[in-house]
Amino acid sequence: MEKHIETTCVQSGYYAGNGDPRQMPIIQSTTFKYDDSDYMGRLFDLEEEGYFYTRLANPTCDYVAKKICELEGGVAAVLTSSGQAANFFAVFNICEAGDHFIASQSIYGGTFNLFGTTMKKMGIECTFVDQTLPYEELEKYFRPNTKCLFGETLTNPTVNVLDFDKFARLAHNHGVPLIIDNTFATPINCRPFEFGADIVVHSTTKYMDGHAATVGGVVVDSGNFDWMAHAEKYPGLCTPDESYHGIVYAEKFGKNAYISKAVAHLMRDFGAVQSPQNAFYVNLGLESLYVRMKQHCESAYKVASFLKQHEKVAWVKYPGLEDDPEYTLAQKYMPNGTCGVLCFGVKGSREDAIKFMDALNLANIETHVSDSHTCLLHPASHTHRQMTDEQLKEAGVAPDLIRFSVGLESAEDIIADLEQALDKI
Ligand SMILES: *Cc1c(COP(=O)(O)O)cnc(C)c1O
Repeated sequence: MEKHIETTCVQSGYYAGNGDPRQMPIIQSTTFKYDDSDYMGRLFDLEEEGYFYTRLANPTCDYVAKKICELEGGVAAVLTSSGQAANFFAVFNICEAGDHFIASQSIYGGTFNLFGTTMKKMGIECTFVDQTLPYEELEKYFRPNTKCLFGETLTNPTVNVLDFDKFARLAHNHGVPLIIDNTFATPINCRPFEFGADIVVHSTTKYMDGHAATVGGVVVDSGNFDWMAHAEKYPGLCTPDESYHGIVYAEKFGKNAYISKAVAHLMRDFGAVQSPQNAFYVNLGLESLYVRMKQHCESAYKVASFLKQHEKVAWVKYPGLEDDPEYTLAQKYMPNGTCGVLCFGVKGSREDAIKFMDALNLANIETHVSDSHTCLLHPASHTHRQMTDEQLKEAGVAPDLIRFSVGLESAEDIIADLEQALDKI
């Protein structure tokens, strides 16, 4: 019988044997000892499975990666030091200088910078597109050297819903994988592989940890994309890797090729590992992820409904509201709820908005989102401040947009706090 996702949250990844510790052990060791030299040699040749250095792999990190992999319904996964590292690895694993890829322009500001500025310096070009355009319009952005399509299930900060059917068709009709950042929805509310995504990434810093305690990321592969069928496009996976004695990842590792390469090649060279200690914290978060996501969604719905009817609020964006323009799309892909994040603008001037934000007591101004503490942020003056007004508009971030992350406090208390602050305008 297949387990329910609640059980996977609590019990997967690490399995205690007789007399073993019940909670996942933290293997706080950089290295692992071997009795014979030959065995160690075979580990380096990737001929034998085993641990030899924590920059490449560590048992605690692997337990947690395995749990997230199972939650997403994938075949293999690797933890990274941050969500940024996960997004970089996910794309760089299949792109090199001279390549091109396509991403939604509504993605997280950090990822927008990484793709548009930093990767450009590496000779990889990203075209940002309006994800709401029809298929025929979006199709025009594909080029012969396009290697992947990237989007977020729910965009940060604008909480727009991705049309998976359209994006999966676009990617697959052009012979490239669809990479999805599923940070806001989490596998509790959306499993992108079921809607055609090939690779999923997360910033585990957000709901997976859930307590604002650790920065981390993960890349998960569905195993569904047939690299060999497009071998000419993916030489890194389909031709011999001279830095690994000429192994061909897609031949040697089959469905695990993508993650095997990310570990053997990118982790070896970039070293963006998650520490075993941090992985342990992420696991504590995962154990209660199901319960917390339900509560975050329930409270966010109440907060969004309250704001929607308030005379001093100009607009509210929460795809869980019945009258939201993306409600139907959200219901299609996330019937049990979206996330705890919503956006709104207050009526009046920029000064009014600042007065309102400063008057909040329970909700704190923080560069964070998606944890147990209610927090808010004004992207135009915080996370997105490096963007020009033009770029902000392109990313769909209104200058008055306030991103509000509903935590696990009482919804009544959060609403009372909002009410008294709105009264001060
Ligand atoms: C926060 C976030 C990231 C970046 O993750 P870090 O862990 O901060 O590096 C990437 N994508 C989304 C959607 C995020 O919310």
